[in-house]
Amino acid sequence: MTTENTNNRRSNRHSGQSPKKLPYFLWIAFLSCLLIIVSGGTYVVYGKIQEQQLQEKLDEETTNLVAEIEQEQEKNGVVSEKKERNNDNIKEILYIPKEEKELPYENTEEQLTHLMKQERKKLKHPKQAIVVGCVEKQKRTDHLATYALNVETYDWESNEQTFKKENERTEKSIYINTDTGEEITSKALIGSKANLLAIQQVIQQKLLDDAEKPQDILDAVLDLPRIKFENATYTPEHLEIALPKNKTGVDKLTLDYSDVQSFIQTDLVDPSQLSEETTALDPNKKYVSLTFDDGPGGDTTPRLLQLLAEKDVKATFFMLGQMAEEFPQIVKDVHEQGHEIASHSYSHPQLNAIPKDKLKEQVRLTDKAIYNAAGILPRTLRPPYGAISPESAEVIGKPIIQWDIDSYDWDSKNTQAVIDRVNQTAFEGGIILMHDIHPTTIDAVGTVIDNLRAQGYEFVTTSQLLEQKEKPLYQYFGQTDAREI
Ligand SMILES: [Zn+2]
Repeated sequence: MTTENTNNRRSNRHSGQSPKKLPYFLWIAFLSCLLIIVSGGTYVVYGKIQEQQLQEKLDEETTNLVAEIEQEQEKNGVVSEKKERNNDNIKEILYIPKEEKELPYENTEEQLTHLMKQERKKLKHPKQAIVVGCVEKQKRTDHLATYALNVETYDWESNEQTFKKENERTEKSIYINTDTGEEITSKALIGSKANLLAIQQVIQQKLLDDAEKPQDILDAVLDLPRIKFENATYTPEHLEIALPKNKTGVDKLTLDYSDVQSFIQTDLVDPSQLSEETTALDPNKKYVSLTFDDGPGGDTTPRLLQLLAEKDVKATFFMLGQMAEEFPQIVKDVHEQGHEIASHSYSHPQLNAIPKDKLKEQVRLTDKAIYNAAGILPRTLRPPYGAISPESAEVIGKPIIQWDIDSYDWDSKNTQAVIDRVNQTAFEGGIILMHDIHPTTIDAVGTVIDNLRAQGYEFVTTSQLLEQKEKPLYQYFGQTDAREI
């Protein structure tokens, strides 16, 4: 004991003079602990601050996005009540229309809730998502409004610290004519049987234009059953056609409105889909249209083409199918030189006096002969003797082109008589009837053109004269003389 105490005292004495040093390793441990505590603390504090900043940023962005959505809603034409639900980390905003009876939908809340549920499921690992459902109304033109059920989803992008739109889903688009409040149907768009038949012509030409081997489907195209209003489905952008059963190998096609704009109510479609190219004539100029029937003639028509080329005049040729079959190269030349080719039946019978199946055959054979020669279907038809009836016009299915200035070249077969007759009877907007099978007519044409030019007339094809608005079931005698048959 004593020895020990002594030793202790001694050692105390020693240490009193020079205190015992903490061992080196303890210092290290102590400093390390201190470092861990300080940095850990800093880390915790810093983490807390950062988390708080993130949350603030998220809250801020959420507020901004919700405000943006709210603003969009105010612009929307549907007055709605807002409902918000928070579902874990998904915020749902539902706009329920107040005046449901003004809408083309029923049970919108139920339908929107259902769609929102489906969209919510598509979000894989939503961090902080917002799902918005509403009925959207867009005013497309003065007469066209579209409605749709719309659901949008947004999810939080942590890296970019912002919301990103994940998906937008539009369902049950409905198009309303704002004048009538009624849904726009293909029937409302097309309007009349005449327009429907005109669209049929566009479809037939398009089937041939789109075909790789048009010759293979030519018969099927010529025999294409007539479309009905229910074959056409309206959207503001296009007209979708489900073709009746046929042998062309095509059962549906999409028509651009620019291709049929003379035959639809254009204020019911999206204006961007219409062609701005105008077919309108200059109202300050006066026009006539030279037309030649019963050809092509083997000698006379080539002479006429030469003459027209020299005078820089475009004309319209109402060809007989049997003549087109005989002189396909001339038909092709007529087309390639920029003249219009139209039908004058196959063998020149009185079309309103023959049975329906014979009439069909007259039209069909001529269409085929002209297509085979020139690669186009004639759009219009002039009935021999001008003879037409509502029934025959319906079977023909093409605009009927008559005339209001008769050169009587078929009667006089006298060059000077033709020149005088046209010169004395021509008037603005007239369609002049001649025949390119009589040499006496061809001899007159040069002077006829010079005289009319001297009177200030310009020459256009009949389709140009009618601004390409002519349609089946109507007959046209001149620029301003259209009559329903
Ligand atoms: Zn004739």
